[in-house]
Amino acid sequence: MDFKFTDGQQMLRDVAAQFAENELEPIAAELDLEHRFPRESFEKMVAAGYAGIGVPREYGGSGGGDIEKVIVVEEFAKKCMASSSIISIHLITPHLINKFGTEDQKKKFLPRITSGGGLAAFALTEPGAGTDAGAARTTAILDPETNEYVLNGTKCFISGGGQAEVLTIFALTDPTKGLKGMSAILVEKGTPGFSIGKIEDKMGIAGSETAELIFEDCRVPAENLVGKEGQGFKIAMMALDGARIGAAAQALGIAEGAIDLSVKYMHERVQFGKPIAALQGLQWYIADMATKTEAAKWLVYCSAYRHDAGLPYTKEAAMAKMNAAENARFVTNLALQIHGGYGYMKDYPLERMYRDAKITEIYEGTSEVHKVVIARAVLG
Ligand SMILES: Cc1cc2nc3c(=O)[nH]c(=O)nc-3n(C[C@H](O)[C@H](O)[C@H](O)COP(=O)(O)OP(=O)(O)OC[C@H]3O[C@@H](n4cnc5c(N)ncnc54)[C@H](O)[C@@H]3O)c2cc1C
Repeated sequence: MDFKFTDGQQMLRDVAAQFAENELEPIAAELDLEHRFPRESFEKMVAAGYAGIGVPREYGGSGGGDIEKVIVVEEFAKKCMASSSIISIHLITPHLINKFGTEDQKKKFLPRITSGGGLAAFALTEPGAGTDAGAARTTAILDPETNEYVLNGTKCFISGGGQAEVLTIFALTDPTKGLKGMSAILVEKGTPGFSIGKIEDKMGIAGSETAELIFEDCRVPAENLVGKEGQGFKIAMMALDGARIGAAAQALGIAEGAIDLSVKYMHERVQFGKPIAALQGLQWYIADMATKTEAAKWLVYCSAYRHDAGLPYTKEAAMAKMNAAENARFVTNLALQIHGGYGYMKDYPLERMYRDAKITEIYEGTSEVHKVVIARAVLG
């Protein structure tokens, strides 16, 4: 056993923490109020190499693995959950192309979305197919004459969908086969027949734009198929296993950020003639918050370690995500409570963090579906 980060990982954490403090924290409240996608800070993330973490350098990536991804996503979430969500979800598509794509796809798409400034999106959910992804209705039927897939259907709740240059779309290439007829297809922004529908007005992570995608006879070259026809569901589930580690890192980071703010406030705020840090009731809150967050941290890093070591990690990723998400809600709630009435006001970041934390129990699989995955793994 070795619980130490390498020097390189520690350096990455220091630099990412500095980036989050300088670039993300100052705009976090503004993004929330204005519901604005932070294009300028995404460009800075690209310039710093964060958009290519986990992708080999030969394709424009920054190298590293899931531990490096978790470090960055965690540090960003301490200061701005929306920005953390943006980078975490962006990374799903380059990782998927790197794992399942052809050499041509890697050369064509990866440099564009790792170091080229293009955002990526992952589109599985549909109005009638959320947890039950197998109920998807979007089709991609091959036209043998032009060797193009013709996409028809609607995806909903897609993070960054309206901003993305490259999108992974899951669609039925053989609608008669249900899940076994689902395939993963790369679609580029601006492809005729592809348009952006409703932009959602959300409870939290307002800077992470959430869009509806509409496909009407949208023609995509057959060479954009990732993997083989019919492998889409398997690819989606494997991609989501990795994405869950990212969502878990978001939940971990926001909890740590809320604890940092609470500790500072407890030393500063004076009631009954002394700092509220002297009140045992609040000390017990902090003890619970810190202990549960430390436990969440090791489950998150354990799943990232298993991913990078090539060990099975589906169960661990589900546990890490479910646990860290529950903890993020628990911790942000108590952190707001510690701040009293000020925590409820928009002048302080706690009410935003409380709202932002909630998403981690919903996207990349709900907590309920993680219990299904965990129980299946445990019961055999
Ligand atoms: C802000 C935001 C961003 C998102 N970004 C993306 C994205 O980038 N790409 C993408 O593809 N999707 C995205 N999603 C969709 C997200 O993954 C789904 O919302 C989620 O999977 C749940 O699906 P649903 O909303 O249809 O809920 P439903 O599946 O309808 O679930 C409703 C309730 O039933 C429960 N439930 C469902 N099935 C079971 C079961 N088998 N056992 C026990 N309980 C169950 C759920 O846990 C939930 O409590 C995003 C969602 C949000 C809110």
